[in-house]
Amino acid sequence: LFKPIEKISAILELYPRGMAGFKRFTDMMDTEVDVVDRDDAKEAPVLDGSISFNDVTFGYEENRPVLSNVNLTIPAGKTIAFVGPSGAGKTTISSLIPRFYDIDSGSITINGMNIQEMTKKSLRSQIGIVQQDVFLFSGTLRENIRYGNLNASDEEIEHAARLANLEALIESLPQGYDTQIGQRGLKLSGGQKQRIAIARTFLKNPPILILDEATSALDTETEAMIQQSLQELAVNRTTLVIAHRLATIRHADRIVVVTKDGIVEQGTYDELIAKNGAFASLNSIQINQ
Ligand code: ATP
Repeated sequence: LFKPIEKISAILELYPRGMAGFKRFTDMMDTEVDVVDRDDAKEAPVLDGSISFNDVTFGYEENRPVLSNVNLTIPAGKTIAFVGPSGAGKTTISSLIPRFYDIDSGSITINGMNIQEMTKKSLRSQIGIVQQDVFLFSGTLRENIRYGNLNASDEEIEHAARLANLEALIESLPQGYDTQIGQRGLKLSGGQKQRIAIARTFLKNPPILILDEATSALDTETEAMIQQSLQELAVNRTTLVIAHRLATIRHADRIVVVTKDGIVEQGTYDELIAKNGAFASLNSIQINQ
């Protein structure tokens, strides 16, 4: 079942630096053809999720840094929202944590340990990613949710589905969890797919979470349901949100404003509004849209 998936992601991954806007995190999580483990790489310990960027410089192409000398500390268990104009580097910052790319200089540590000293597998097994572009395969709903943890029992799958607000949908289907989805089965809406991704992540139960929020509009009810599940998912996990919605920004423990000049402001929503700087103007644009 998983072989063809590995193949597709391996093919995609051959061109990671050439494809602008290439953000298929989940494909990248499964692939082997990317950054290489050091010979002396160690298994990551159980991570508490305190993350630190120390003078990090990184570019997709030589001599064209997207991030220059970035310093950032993210305390364990907190929710940090990244905001800023398109192309500023929000996704890039979060893609460096699972080591989809290795940085050019500086260091990134988790629990004080340099992530380049950890095996990719042990690092990534402790990071969950929820994004707009959800990977589903032809199979039942149950199988698709189980993808988050292949050892999960039916009870655990059903519990995760409840936490992800999928229960009403599943109960409305004559075959429930055994409903086929995919090309020849049930077609799911964007919001339903995202809730499957959330259920998978509850099953995976990682200490670190990356949420790449959907930019496309969802209806208000779906949006509220997803926000509620995401907030539950974020409890006791270090959560990085690439934020597009005011709702998450308000709930974040800290907002980090990223522009072409790097990290220009950090603080809570109220602090940044009071400061009346870059965040305040971004925010007023969004409110007036
Ligand atoms: P958005 O809000 O649109 O998602 P962002 O702040 O997340 O934007 P990034 O996606 O991190 O921005 O992009 C930062 C810069 O890096 C952009 O100039 C972008 O074109 C470039 N970039 C991103 N991914 C790649 C890639 N795989 N290969 C080459 N350049 C890339």
